[in-house]
Amino acid sequence: MVESKRVVIVGIPGVGKTTLVSTIVELLNMKQTTVSVYSFGTIMLEEAKKNNIKDRDDIRKLSIEEQKKLQLLAAQQIANFNDKVVIIDTHAFISTAAGFYPGLPEYVLKIIKPANFISVSARPEEIYNRRMNDTTRSRIITSIESIKKEMAVQEAMLSSCSVLSGSPIISVLNKEGNIKDVAEYIIKAIGL
Ligand code: ATP
Ligand code: AMP
Ligand code: MG
Repeated sequence: MVESKRVVIVGIPGVGKTTLVSTIVELLNMKQTTVSVYSFGTIMLEEAKKNNIKDRDDIRKLSIEEQKKLQLLAAQQIANFNDKVVIIDTHAFISTAAGFYPGLPEYVLKIIKPANFISVSARPEEIYNRRMNDTTRSRIITSIESIKKEMAVQEAMLSSCSVLSGSPIISVLNKEGNIKDVAEYIIKAIGL
């Protein structure tokens, strides 16, 4: 059986990963190309619901031990998907009460075996406004300064992932109102 090509897309909360992934799917559908998209957080939430967690934004508030368990279960499920191309919408790290927790620790990378990483960034001011204006989520509203710090942590976490898995990073800037161009760029870069 041919292994799936797994593309892992990461970025700090509110940068626009989920919106970007939906745009990629829309554009690919127009070209009659299909791709499977999975949200790591949604898979974790399905497991967390068994323990009465109802909101995806409550997962990061669990103990590290519990988050680790859910993370492992999600990674194992993802490894079993055998679609040709799989895009995984996730995070390089999670801001928790115990500090920055890796979204892709070595044991997760070994299970998922990503072929490519896509690192999404945006101007800190835009991320701040996206968090403020998106009423569908309970994101942590911080300052522009702390968003800059999160972006630096993301770079550091993701470079370790790239080194450990031997897979390249495509870095994109999700500019305001420019989402289709960014999605097209990613489609080309991953050869879809
Ligand atoms: P999380 O990690 O919390 O799931 P996310 O990275 O998936 O966040 P989205 O939910 O996709 O972020 O986007 C956050 C908000 O920013 C949404 O309201 C979305 O409509 C908006 N947004 C995303 N990209 C752009 C863009 N290029 N221009 C304008 N608004 C955008
Ligand atoms: P999202 O909708 O992408 O923000 O995902 C919801 C929540 O799932 C995040 O806030 C995290 O608590 C959790 N999550 C997503 N991906 C990971 C991951 N790779 N490792 C640990 N937790 C994750
Ligand atoms: Mg999202």
